[in-house]
Amino acid sequence: MAAPLLEAKNVEAFYGPTRVLKGISFEVAEGGITTILGANGAGKTTTLRALSGLVRTAGEIRFAGQRIDGLSTEKIAALGVAHVPDGRGTLVNLTVEENLLVGAYLQRDKAKAAAAMERMFGYFPRLRERRQQQAGTLSGGEQQMLAISRALMQGPRLLLMDEPSFGLAPLIIREIFQIMRVINEQEGVSILLVEQNVARALDLADHAWLLETGQTVMSGTARQLRDDEQIRRSYLGF
Ligand code: ATP
Repeated sequence: MAAPLLEAKNVEAFYGPTRVLKGISFEVAEGGITTILGANGAGKTTTLRALSGLVRTAGEIRFAGQRIDGLSTEKIAALGVAHVPDGRGTLVNLTVEENLLVGAYLQRDKAKAAAAMERMFGYFPRLRERRQQQAGTLSGGEQQMLAISRALMQGPRLLLMDEPSFGLAPLIIREIFQIMRVINEQEGVSILLVEQNVARALDLADHAWLLETGQTVMSGTARQLRDDEQIRRSYLGF
């Protein structure tokens, strides 16, 4: 089997003295969509923050074979990890287009950045219509589309997505999840998705890890988890 794109071994994470991740281990395969599921407060957001170097960690994190734990967020991003944080993190005073150009800061070639922007407008035509609009005035769904596009403008190998469905209407969630599959294939980007919307996440993902109070308790293909009634009832609540 091919080596995983990302490998976390016994990773702990701390807010001040408080240990929130208690030694989690998981892998993200290259090319696919992996999801981390878990209840409120299980540590999903913290896991993504640990991978991006935004919290203090212990343990080992390897990306494309290289240790990234302890590296700065900027270095991790430059190696090919892009993060769509919860709350989305668009720059509200900048326009759609300016946000995308900020996302392209790693791309020195202007023609390539322009081509990438065109591809984003292809995925999300609403952003093209609103290219001169201030990000802060976009709807929640449009802001999520912008946040995803901005992260993709980095040209990452791995996209970390934190609760993209949060606060959005079901129709918009469906639209965004459908396009994530297309993006996964066309951009050749692997995705690590954190979601509370378990059914949607399992529909989209190939592989799932289950997190419970700071520890990984189970993993399998998305289909295995979805089809196992006991797992569904005990852990997934649907
Ligand atoms: P949710 O789905 O509710 O967002 P989560 O699984 O993403 O939950 P985290 O946000 O990673 O969980 O939080 C894990 C634990 O860490 C929680 O107990 C939370 O209270 C705690 N925590 C999160 N951020 C901080 C912080 N900045 N300082 C201290 N504790 C924090």
